[in-house]
Amino acid sequence: MKLKKVIAIAMASAMVFGLAACGNSAAPAATETPAEEAPAEAPAEEEAAPAEEAEAPAEEAAAEDAAAAADAAGAGGNIGVCIYKFDDAFMTTYRNALQEILEGKGYTVTFMDGKNDQAEQNNQINNFIAQQVDALIINPVMTSAADQIIATVKDAGVPTVLINREPTADQMSAYDKLVYVGCDARQSGTMQGELILDTENKGDINGDGKVSYIMIQGDPENIDAQYRTEFSVKALTDAGMEVEELDLQRGDWDRNKGQEIAQNDLAKFGDDIEVVFCNNDDMAIGALQAIQAAGRKVNEDIYLVGVDALDAALNEVAAGNMTGTVLNDAQGQAEGAVQAMEDLLGGKTYAAGEQSIYVDYVKVTPDNVADFQ
Ligand code: BGC
Repeated sequence: MKLKKVIAIAMASAMVFGLAACGNSAAPAATETPAEEAPAEAPAEEEAAPAEEAEAPAEEAAAEDAAAAADAAGAGGNIGVCIYKFDDAFMTTYRNALQEILEGKGYTVTFMDGKNDQAEQNNQINNFIAQQVDALIINPVMTSAADQIIATVKDAGVPTVLINREPTADQMSAYDKLVYVGCDARQSGTMQGELILDTENKGDINGDGKVSYIMIQGDPENIDAQYRTEFSVKALTDAGMEVEELDLQRGDWDRNKGQEIAQNDLAKFGDDIEVVFCNNDDMAIGALQAIQAAGRKVNEDIYLVGVDALDAALNEVAAGNMTGTVLNDAQGQAEGAVQAMEDLLGGKTYAAGEQSIYVDYVKVTPDNVADFQ
């Protein structure tokens, strides 16, 4: 994505971010960072000359607190970031955005690759805690590990922002220095369905009165995968379309698996497949390879939709090789995550039921794809 567009989108999503802060009316106001509260003093110098200020211990303690907060808020705070696995296309975009924002603000940031292994990630979290990081940003490997992760960071008292894999509100309520920043995946599923409804035949290419589709799912343990699967089809049935599911298989967000599943299904169901729903773009790019190898033509005899708006997918939408995709705003989420982290560092706590902050998805079609490239 080009920088100008990214900034425009980021600004738009920053507005959405403020508004969508999930019932949390305090969120837009809570933007002062500790750096603003305690700007100038360099804590090291202060510590080097304590005697001069020794008469006023209470004030001194307050000044030290403020200096520590300023330190954590950009003048050298240490941030640990755990990513579920580095070789995920979308999370790579997200990771790069986080790195640029955090380093741009003066934080020292360490990224760890969970390698899709929860035990490995647990060790990484424990190591970060032992190193006394100021805050953690965690993209859990398994949503089912949320309770354990939350108990660990709570026990250590480390302010924590969870990203990309959303635990339940109930799980998060265990710790008030914990917040989730992400998207409401129901919205992306609905938008995928709408992309199909917006075609000239509403997905019923062969005119037999029903939309026959295959569903290539992400990791089914992930709520994003569950909701996108459910709500893409629901948009069609809500609009009165009859649907037929020819196949549903897990592709684990992975391009090669997307290619294999589509290849097998095309061999098995042939022209009966009218729509290929993919829970993300990487799998859609894989599916596109299989579609082209089978001699099918997207938007003529088959439709294909993804989610994320990866650069590769934007190019395919522009070229007419994907029907559309949905922007999963990595930049907006990264900004939201850092903002939430700074709010936590500034002492903000989150009440139960107000711990999820959502950034909006955006539908991407050939008509507006240039805005995202
Ligand atoms: C993205 C996928 C990604 C997954 C990782 C989803 O929100 O759409 O592309 O693989 O997150 O958890």
